[in-house]
Amino acid sequence: MDNKAVLKLIKDEEVDYVDIRFTDPRGKLQHVTVVADLVDEDFLEEGFMFDGSSIAGWKSIDQSDMKLMPQAESAYLDPFYAEKTVCIHCNIVEPDTMEAYDRDPRGTAVKAEEYLKSSGIGDTAYFGPEAEFFVFDDVRFQVSMNKVSYQVDAIDGAWNTDTEYEMGNMGHRPGVKGGYFPVNPIDDAQEMRSEMLSTMKRMGMKVDKHHHEVASCQHELGLIFGTLTHQADELQKYKYVIHNVAQAYGKSATFMPKPIAGDNGTGMHVNMSIWKDGKPLFAGDKYADLSDEALYFIGGILKHAKALNAITNPSTNSYKRLIPGFEAPVLRAYSARNRSGCVRIPWAESPKAKRVEARFPDPAANPYLCFAALLMAGLDGIKNKIDPGASSDKDLYDLPPEELAAIPTVCGSLREALEALEADHEFLLAGDVFTKDQLEGYMELKWEEVYAYEHTPHPMEYKLYYSC
Ligand code: GLN
Ligand code: MG
Ligand code: MG
Ligand code: MG
Repeated sequence: MDNKAVLKLIKDEEVDYVDIRFTDPRGKLQHVTVVADLVDEDFLEEGFMFDGSSIAGWKSIDQSDMKLMPQAESAYLDPFYAEKTVCIHCNIVEPDTMEAYDRDPRGTAVKAEEYLKSSGIGDTAYFGPEAEFFVFDDVRFQVSMNKVSYQVDAIDGAWNTDTEYEMGNMGHRPGVKGGYFPVNPIDDAQEMRSEMLSTMKRMGMKVDKHHHEVASCQHELGLIFGTLTHQADELQKYKYVIHNVAQAYGKSATFMPKPIAGDNGTGMHVNMSIWKDGKPLFAGDKYADLSDEALYFIGGILKHAKALNAITNPSTNSYKRLIPGFEAPVLRAYSARNRSGCVRIPWAESPKAKRVEARFPDPAANPYLCFAALLMAGLDGIKNKIDPGASSDKDLYDLPPEELAAIPTVCGSLREALEALEADHEFLLAGDVFTKDQLEGYMELKWEEVYAYEHTPHPMEYKLYYSC
């Protein structure tokens, strides 16, 4: 879609409002709603001024004016508002120079795609994120109170059914790990997931499937892969639809990486491939039918994984997922078969489908920054021919303890990840895709979260230490 097509859509559909949307550094979609009568060719070309100082991690109050530039290719009709509304995702520019604002995540994604082209390595990078989520009954306050005892009980290995009663869990429910894959009524979220997927389809999104995930109340819907910035836009729409359809069902959806102790967490595996001149660069005759470039790309991801964690696993809660035993990776290893490493090479029917799957990211990540950072790490691998080492095709957790201990791991906390990013970020700065100022702003926000978390007594500490 271009500006003309957006204006035609507004006219043909008798649209009342235009929702101008953008994503903040933490990854949350933000919006401001403009009366459609005011939206014309000039509006779309000149952009919309707003106060950037009210967004965490952006400008200070004395230099707060910023401009939102609507990107027509991202336009869609909102499926939830009663008044007819067209939504458009925006890039952010400095109003005086019209240059891209370096802390705008969507702008970073656009620059990463330009950098790929200018590097000569490839012209297109495809991303296929698989964002999982939980849906809980929307008795929010009750759940948040009871979740404490629920989690504590889980650590003892005993599931407290009284707690489930209190949470309103009275009906036929899948037990823990019971929902993957029996049909309804064990899978009682079928209708809701179908409605989520149909809503996405009506918004013009390319979708393929949905299913219950391994933990109880956990789900995944399938988006068909797309180019980097486009696919980050799609992921923002994916989360938006899931939150709103769940709410319409009287429930609440969460993309928090580890909401329940003792059960699988919520990952966002990211499948990636690079193409050049219409040909898949990752298909070849090396390990798992990969090319040298694909192996170097993996080398870059594994080398920079700890720094990437600060962007791909950006919450204190993320590190409660990255532990052994729940299909989430801990070890910095790769394999075609094994799901215990950070990178897997999914079986592909044809060279066109050849891709690399990073398994450590989670959906708390800002998708624009997450995809851009993964691409930058992989490109650094290709440019510097970073050897990923030998593949790990055994179940790594079956290795003798000394061998297991020799395999490097991902970070164990957000604190560690921020320190890793502080020490290793040159690969992100290539081509000015990320900037030092942007990373400083981002890390400042994330340190606030680390301190808030580290300085707050935890329910588990009451259990362990209250009577000491
Ligand atoms: N939930 C798992 C994770 O945290 C993934 C499970 C799966 O998709 N097979 O990554
Ligand atoms: Mg999947
Ligand atoms: Mg999954
Ligand atoms: Mg996967």
